[in-house]
Amino acid sequence: MREKGRSREELFSFLARRRGEDLEYGRILSSMCTRPHPVAVEAEAMFAGTNLGDPGLFPGTAGIERLLIESLGDLLHHPGACGYATSGGTESNIQVLRMARGLAGVQDPNVVVPESAHFSFEKACDLLSIEIRPVPLDRNFRMDAEAAEEQVDRNTTCLVGIAGTTEYGMVDPIRILSDIAVDRGVFFHVDAAFGGLVVPFLEEPIPFDFALPGVCSISVDPHKMGMSPIPAGALLVRDEGMLSPLSVATPYLTVKKEYTLTGTRPGGPVAGAFAVLEFLGREGMRSIVQGCMANTARLIAGLETFGLERAVTPDVNVATFTCDRTPPGWQISRTRKGHLRIVCMPHVSRDQVEAFISAMGEIHA
Ligand SMILES: *Cc1c(COP(=O)(O)O)cnc(C)c1O
Repeated sequence: MREKGRSREELFSFLARRRGEDLEYGRILSSMCTRPHPVAVEAEAMFAGTNLGDPGLFPGTAGIERLLIESLGDLLHHPGACGYATSGGTESNIQVLRMARGLAGVQDPNVVVPESAHFSFEKACDLLSIEIRPVPLDRNFRMDAEAAEEQVDRNTTCLVGIAGTTEYGMVDPIRILSDIAVDRGVFFHVDAAFGGLVVPFLEEPIPFDFALPGVCSISVDPHKMGMSPIPAGALLVRDEGMLSPLSVATPYLTVKKEYTLTGTRPGGPVAGAFAVLEFLGREGMRSIVQGCMANTARLIAGLETFGLERAVTPDVNVATFTCDRTPPGWQISRTRKGHLRIVCMPHVSRDQVEAFISAMGEIHA
């Protein structure tokens, strides 16, 4: 750290240069994050500096967090859901496995997850010393429910299904998994970090939420399809009692206990997340999501005219292809199996989809 401070002018010109090195969202086709909605940016700025880690000092901000959880609970067919705003899917998934382990109280815990699970489950299992049991997928990249049931035993503390997989955009057979969970008395978590703000707005929603009796908890990330500032995730649970293994006493704060993983927590992104949902409503979200789905379908149809085959028909706005070559200047990604992967986020306009299709056409002519 320097001895004497730098002038504001010089400092900000330095910062601007560095910021200029970042890629523009426009050509990013690989990310599940997107440009935050202008309303989110405004609300975030308004709540800058607020700390949800000490809610008694910021009762207004804490109230917004409760409203966000209520709104998401309502969307996910359980207005009475409890939970809190996390820093994202990773934190939500860590907390769920911690919670489920605490509730089960077994000696050698294991969790049963699809092979398509996000790598946050690996982190969570490592942190918590839980055995991870990956379950193979069917040919549409969805968890094989029968194989999942075979993996469940009396040390299984959590069964996990995914609504909107990170790589292929698939929704696991959540209804069947929910029945298995009820049958076997096992805690069932749905990782809807991405799909939680997509599936409810599809023309034909796929059942994945608290409407299914076995679903105990859901992760959903406003900082993905919710167009919120980063970091904004949410963890929702069916009953408040489920959170009890996470509770710690918090001496010297304005509240006596908390069940969050992080201590100091930013209120800005939470206000941003709430503001977007309020501003757009279901109607606005439906229109954005259906636009992203239409772009996904157009991209698939467009690339297939060049003989590039889709890996699968996705349930949400993630398109994957068998394709080795891609044009320069576009930020794309690859799945672990090597498929080209493109996420049609709200910042990816129809014009950009057409431009990418043309660029692909040129190299595959
Ligand atoms: C993005 C994602 C996560 C991780 O969320 P972060 O916000 O990056 O921590 C977890 N699960 C799924 C299905 C995801 O798509």
